[in-house]
Amino acid sequence: MAKAVSLEQEIEKLREEIRRHEELYYVQDSPEVSDADYDTLLETLKALELEHPEFVTPDSPTQRVGGRPAEGFAEVVHRRPMLSLDNSYNIEELRAFDQRCQRLADGRSLEYVAELKIDGLSLSLHYANQILVRGVTRGDGRIGEDVTQNARTIRSVPLKLRTKKSIGDEVEVRGEAFIPRKVFEKTNAEREEQGESRFANPRNAAAGTIRQLDSRIVATRKLDMFAYDLIAGDRKPFPTHWEALNWMEDAGLRVNPNRKLCGTIEEVIEFANEIEAQRDALDYEIDGLVVKVNSTALQDDFGTTNKAPRWAIAYKYAARQATTRVIKIVVQVGRTGALTPVANLEPVSLAGTTVARATLHNPDEVKRLGIREGDWVLIEKGGDVIPKVLSVIKSKRTGAEKPFRMPRKCPVCGGEISRPEGEVVSRCVAADCPAQLKGRLLHFASRRAMRIEGLGESLVDQFVDSGKVRDAGDLYTLTLEDIAALERMATKSAANLIAQIKASKLRDLSNLVYALGLRHVGDRTATTLARHFGSLDKLSQASVEELDEIPEIGLTVAESVHDWFHDDGNIELCRRLEAAGVTTKTQKSAGTTDDRFAGKQFVLTGTLETFNRDEARAVIEACGGRVSSSVSKKTDYLVAGAEAGSKLEKATSLGVTVVDEAAFRKMLA
Ligand code: NAD
Repeated sequence: MAKAVSLEQEIEKLREEIRRHEELYYVQDSPEVSDADYDTLLETLKALELEHPEFVTPDSPTQRVGGRPAEGFAEVVHRRPMLSLDNSYNIEELRAFDQRCQRLADGRSLEYVAELKIDGLSLSLHYANQILVRGVTRGDGRIGEDVTQNARTIRSVPLKLRTKKSIGDEVEVRGEAFIPRKVFEKTNAEREEQGESRFANPRNAAAGTIRQLDSRIVATRKLDMFAYDLIAGDRKPFPTHWEALNWMEDAGLRVNPNRKLCGTIEEVIEFANEIEAQRDALDYEIDGLVVKVNSTALQDDFGTTNKAPRWAIAYKYAARQATTRVIKIVVQVGRTGALTPVANLEPVSLAGTTVARATLHNPDEVKRLGIREGDWVLIEKGGDVIPKVLSVIKSKRTGAEKPFRMPRKCPVCGGEISRPEGEVVSRCVAADCPAQLKGRLLHFASRRAMRIEGLGESLVDQFVDSGKVRDAGDLYTLTLEDIAALERMATKSAANLIAQIKASKLRDLSNLVYALGLRHVGDRTATTLARHFGSLDKLSQASVEELDEIPEIGLTVAESVHDWFHDDGNIELCRRLEAAGVTTKTQKSAGTTDDRFAGKQFVLTGTLETFNRDEARAVIEACGGRVSSSVSKKTDYLVAGAEAGSKLEKATSLGVTVVDEAAFRKMLA
């Protein structure tokens, strides 16, 4: 008797622990354990409950979908619950799913649709008479959060459906909202630059973004969405899921093209292997496949459990996680002086590469992990290039581990460190810190900046350590002898480098502005500034007000630019670059600059077939035009693709010239 009570308590304790992780994961978007650890806890609970059904409670995590609506949004009850999916982790489990389905189908023919399992968060879109009226998150599966305003910012979500074949007035589209990998990396870099904490992974970033109360911020994050389910009224409108996917595609929704209709589970397995091999080439994170029974009649027949449909299963790829030991924790200093703690690891093989380092991001993360030198850690390779430490395996501690503290002085130059209030990043503030100089030089030479090929880390180290280069201006005074004298440098390579440095003088002003490495000035802002001012001299004299007036420039950037150009060291650097013959004015010579759209303002709307938005923007800007996000009297052209909505109406009412894609291409020809 006493034993049964303690087992019951043990099960409840496990439930409590799982609930806590679910809260952290779904509501606060800040998980403390890896998905694998969470899955193990849940599997343990499932096994215990199976053995002791008398202890199953209706509120057990095995009985319901994980999340709970966050505060700040109105609640919406889903007409049909938005369920989770059962998981399978190996081929045997997938075959077992097939056998279960075969049994339930009882001789009726069975087909599967295999789709990618996008790692984002599910979103439900409601269309009334083709018009998007509501966007709702999954929440706890029964009640979700009304995020309509935010859903409207997703460019791949049509505000109006294009329907050749009507399936009724009330249409619900379900899909996965996600952040493309590139956008994720950029967002994290910007957050770090602005002293905010990084998102742990793209799924986290997507979840955090869709729950932003300010939809202007959401719009800057470039969420995307793949549609994967269709409901008309409260029924599935087509006999097969495959037809539903195709209908959604025709209606202007984005449906993932990597999908396959399979006659057998073996075909599904083949497809799973094919996709796994291409996983890294995709611009979004996936964590497996979703396999669904194609016939909607069979789907209805198989039904659902409280938590998941019986007619679908997620097939999860092997986690890209590994355990290893921390040899040492070092602190790197970047070009802005930011101190980044990094764990040097015992090399371990992870997703096809050998990993010997993992980032610890910032002091808060070090504190959160409680990491020590000598600790065993769980690392993961996700959306970021450098793997990260997910958790410390404290049970493996021997007592010999060495606690780690962030240094109080810059570990490279011994300079002062500052951490402004509210920022997560500490920075070395010494003006002459060699680590910052090295970082600045590498940035100056990087591809989107002055593109000096061959000027890598080891050369920069040698230039700085020997005192030959004290700022980017010194690069242009280097001689062949200076370079050839360096370690492992053949005369031919030295000559190549000299040629590269010389060639960099001809780069565009926008490259130079970006290369200078002003805080908050990425390559796009640099292009805006270069186009607006036309010369480094004019830019350097601009007042904060003048800068702030430029439509794409905000006050933070304006102040940062102004401050940079009022620093004596920077003024001297600009003078020396100019004296060295570096291009400091926008070139309009020899017909190389195309300014056919000079002074013209464009607005883009709808879906263009041959360009995505970024490409269209780039070609307009390359021809001297400007792209604005909203239509006004100042708009010269509205480029309207398919499914153009309210912008088209507004442009027409204001008498703005509207061009379709074909006409736009002609203008570019
Ligand atoms: P899930 O993510 O495993 O699968 C269900 C979801 O898959 C759906 O809701 C949908 O959003 C998504 N999906 C993506 N592509 C799809 C497609 N083509 N068709 C249908 N659905 C598609 O389930 P879940 O309940 O959202 O979350 C469970 C996951 O969260 C597990 O991986 C678990 O490890 C993790 N988790 C981790 C923690 C933690 O603390 N680390 C806590 C809770 C949950």
